[in-house]
Amino acid sequence: MASIVLSNVDKIYAGGVKAVNNLNLEIKDGEFMVLVGPSGCGKSTALRMIAGLEDISSGEIAIGGKVVNHLPPKDRDIAMVFQNYALYPHMTVEENLAFGLKLRKMPKQEIQKRVNEAAKMLGLEQYLKRKPAALSGGQRQRVAMGRAIVREPQAFLMDEPLSNLDAKLRVSMRASLNQMHERLGVTTVYVTHDQVEAMTLGDRVCVLREGVLQQVDTPQNLFDNP
Ligand code: ADP
Ligand code: ADP
Repeated sequence: MASIVLSNVDKIYAGGVKAVNNLNLEIKDGEFMVLVGPSGCGKSTALRMIAGLEDISSGEIAIGGKVVNHLPPKDRDIAMVFQNYALYPHMTVEENLAFGLKLRKMPKQEIQKRVNEAAKMLGLEQYLKRKPAALSGGQRQRVAMGRAIVREPQAFLMDEPLSNLDAKLRVSMRASLNQMHERLGVTTVYVTHDQVEAMTLGDRVCVLREGVLQQVDTPQNLFDNP
């Protein structure tokens, strides 16, 4: 677990679009922070800069007190979940969950333990031997989350992970995400354009508009003072 601090962060894309404009944001250790705002407000860009998938134009990003501006994604000890699940189609659920840990040469027993714990937490125990094609969209997204969990990273970064799911599934996945966060307490940055999702998931919500931070507060305070 770790805090994530953005100080005076700008992102200007080639062509001159200022996607993020002097962003200052402190995400506390263990906090669930939602970045919300209309399409094009800079949410994904901010998340991708935290992940190291996008260079920052100026300013500083620190994870766990360490400036990461020049660190590649693999050295940032974070795990990402996107809306497209990117599961390996030829592998079973169990193999998908274990794959990243095998690459890191983790002992088999530890891998098995983490895979079983994640499967239990996400309700995937009875699907471990199935391949992704034989899963529903919600189940696939649970596997994608499981792959993030088993790594036990300092932080989770999620970009619209529920937006490909139907309304009913989104509601049950929101409950699962809340439970998961309660159990693990991992610092989380979650991007969505859905205000209901933001208000039900976030410990705090950061509202962006045209790259500028408008408000950052608890859902209750935002609800009382819109
Ligand atoms: P959001 O996630 O809130 O929809 P984005 O961060 O994707 O917003 O985009 C913010 C702004 O930056 C938009 O104006 C978008 O068109 C622009 N943008 C995003 N990615 C690129 C890119 N690779 N090159 C140029 N402009 C981009
Ligand atoms: P990690 O354990 O670091 O999360 P993974 O082994 O899960 O890494 O994935 C490594 C990279 O390969 C990721 O960027 C992921 O999005 C991508 N990836 C995963 N599954 C597939 C797939 N079926 N086809 C193409 N790329 C994939």
